[in-house]
Amino acid sequence: MAKNHYETLGVSKTATQDEIRTAYRKLARQYHPDLHPNDESCANKFKEINEANEILSDPEKRKQYDFELEHPNAGGFGGFGGQGGFSGFGGGGFSSIFDDLMGGIFGGGGREEPQDKTGRDVHISVDLSFLDAAKGCRKEIKYNRNEPCKACRSTGAKNGTAYTPCSKCKGEGTIQYVNSNGFFRTVSRKACDACSGRGKIIQEKCASCQGRGYQKTQTTVVLDIPAGADTGSYIQKRGFGEASTKGGAAGDLIVEFRVLQHKIFARKNFDLIVNLPIDYKTAVLGGKVKVPTLDDTVEIEIPEGTAHGAQLVLRGKGIKTSRTTGNLYINVSIEIPTKLSKAQKQMLEDFEESVEIKQCQKMKKYADDIESLYGEKPYKNK
Ligand SMILES: [Zn+2]
Ligand SMILES: [Zn+2]
Repeated sequence: MAKNHYETLGVSKTATQDEIRTAYRKLARQYHPDLHPNDESCANKFKEINEANEILSDPEKRKQYDFELEHPNAGGFGGFGGQGGFSGFGGGGFSSIFDDLMGGIFGGGGREEPQDKTGRDVHISVDLSFLDAAKGCRKEIKYNRNEPCKACRSTGAKNGTAYTPCSKCKGEGTIQYVNSNGFFRTVSRKACDACSGRGKIIQEKCASCQGRGYQKTQTTVVLDIPAGADTGSYIQKRGFGEASTKGGAAGDLIVEFRVLQHKIFARKNFDLIVNLPIDYKTAVLGGKVKVPTLDDTVEIEIPEGTAHGAQLVLRGKGIKTSRTTGNLYINVSIEIPTKLSKAQKQMLEDFEESVEIKQCQKMKKYADDIESLYGEKPYKNK
């Protein structure tokens, strides 16, 4: 079982960016290959440390990684794959490691024709309501993709049989080329031009798909989205992408989520945040008030003397995933009433008149500081 990135760096799941940076630097110095020449286990450890740091030091990558840790069985929550690597039919796909090495070392050749017969991935973006994302939901999604043609079992040939293997590539679909470039020899594989990489020559085309082997079809996929999906996290459904044009497996469907705003809740990872305005009297004397949770409301006690900007916490009332539960943070603000009547203003004047400055700690300190510096009292009547 591979260590998770937090264990690799020896930090907790709640480590700050500073703690991660410090842990990474310490370990990277300790295991640097220059200090341990020819020590393979140190080299591997160094690689692990760097991989862990690459994910955890990037807040977006870390968020996705945390989500994956939370949902190990969510049906293929991927890393930040795909970006920059969307392989089209016939361009920009994968080369073998050998080709990559040759290209990398000798700088020649560039990217080769794809040899991977897997179909293209389909990327779609889905909006989730705040509550659906927080509580988890099942969603049926319709999208268009090229589906394998059933009539010809995606061969493109009538009945799936009216073809012969390509003689040029012997049914492989690719041909190996060797280039001698003076001193260096580079070896690469390219799609066979005789059969367009399909490995077969079709005698009679399938009528259903006109020989393509696939058909544009509206497809429905049902996604079980676990609680805690966030903007940028995604689910990868193996085999729900485009059919292969070369007789390989279908690509993947990658559904990326965008979580819509909510009028009451905000969130940070699995914690929920609610803004709660209270009146001046409740702030001074304390009192009860109801706050929302994901399922209902709960009554909380505002303590006597709660300041503007205070934050109250309801532990375990955040987003509940299979492995963890977030908290609900309540940001308290004190609302200043406006449009007071004459009588109300007078009552407030009378009340404030009765309050002594020693009852207001911050004002008292401010008054003392100003007085010691300039010998003046900053507040009238106090
Ligand atoms: Zn067909
Ligand atoms: Zn061929």
